[in-house]
Amino acid sequence: MFSLRLSRKILAFALAVGFSLTVLSGCGVKAVAYDEYGYFGSLTRVVTYEELGEDKTKIKNVLNDVDGAISLSVEGSDVRAFNDAQPGETIEISRVGYEIFTLAMQAYALTDGAYNPAVGLLVDLWGFSPRFNDSDYAPVKPYDRERQSVPNAKYIEAFKKEEVTDFGEVKLLKEDSKYYVTKPNTSVEVDGVTYSMQIDLGGIGKGYAADKCAEIVDKRENYYVSVGASSLVLGANAKTPDGAPNEGSWKVTLASPRGESSYMSVFAKNVSASTSGDYERYFVQDGKRYSHIIDPSTGYPIDNGVATVSLFGATSAEGDTLTTALMVMGRNKAIDFIRNNLTGCKVAIATYEGEAGKVYTNMSDSDFELSSSFEIEKF
Ligand code: ADP
Ligand code: MG
Repeated sequence: MFSLRLSRKILAFALAVGFSLTVLSGCGVKAVAYDEYGYFGSLTRVVTYEELGEDKTKIKNVLNDVDGAISLSVEGSDVRAFNDAQPGETIEISRVGYEIFTLAMQAYALTDGAYNPAVGLLVDLWGFSPRFNDSDYAPVKPYDRERQSVPNAKYIEAFKKEEVTDFGEVKLLKEDSKYYVTKPNTSVEVDGVTYSMQIDLGGIGKGYAADKCAEIVDKRENYYVSVGASSLVLGANAKTPDGAPNEGSWKVTLASPRGESSYMSVFAKNVSASTSGDYERYFVQDGKRYSHIIDPSTGYPIDNGVATVSLFGATSAEGDTLTTALMVMGRNKAIDFIRNNLTGCKVAIATYEGEAGKVYTNMSDSDFELSSSFEIEKF
């Protein structure tokens, strides 16, 4: 089960971070020691108030291990090995890969498949896997076409079938300190070509990495870790660098899904924060937005009015999967799910119903500040 760090409080006050992560210093906090690492096609930032020293190497090792487990563009990564395996084949993976697969399995079960890393074929079909970012992208797969356009329906139908999306059929095994995963012995066929399950851990890897980096620097308290623009771990921030008590929290600005730069800011400390949005990667065809978050039940990008979800309170790996899942669920199901399963987490769900933006949240007034024309509704 998910062990949520629910005792961690969200409180008010100073200092600023943002999910687009610009650090504005303030409130008596002195020099910021600041390290950046380029992984997962994004930037990991570890901000502390003292030099990282040996921890730098530890952080690099963690990021390297996660990359080696989840990266679709790193040859020999665990996920590549899984994707290249034959149906029914068992392959050896790394310990980190095993941990991430295990957490992904838990999230899949908890969210009833709204979070489902076995959407790999669909993500690739819709043009959101990393190969489409290459400047020399050229069509190679039978379903490839010009970059980012609505695919042929026969592939959507095939790639959403449970033969290639039932992540519950993936088997994990640990034996003699070695780790294994078995691909389900099923596949689908389109025009005589066979396709087996493809995994995409892009919706959990950065969150997992943020947790692990935070573990390394956590004893410092006065820190934050951000991985990409969507996973953030905020230190306790209980003391200023000279040891004086600091009642301040971080101010996390949540990026606006459209237009304005931020729609609300949240005051928080000693907590993980995750965000997911339809504005991060998408394309528009015939006036319609197609985002990188796929509804596994339809095979299409989500189309339910939810534009972004941010969650404070779970671990970063959990939050990463949950924000994606809540986007897939849509507003009403998401609110029920939060009430039933995530008591103690603070969540903001930004939606567009027509032109007007509306945010549904279970946060208290003192937890946040609205910085846009969004209407607010508490649940
Ligand atoms: P980001 O990677 O920008 O932080 P998310 O955490 O929301 O965004 O993850 C979205 C990524 O996860 C997509 O780019 C895709 O690779 C993958 N994905 C898309 N739909 C799903 C889904 N329903 N369940 C799990 N992973 C998904
Ligand atoms: Mg996510």
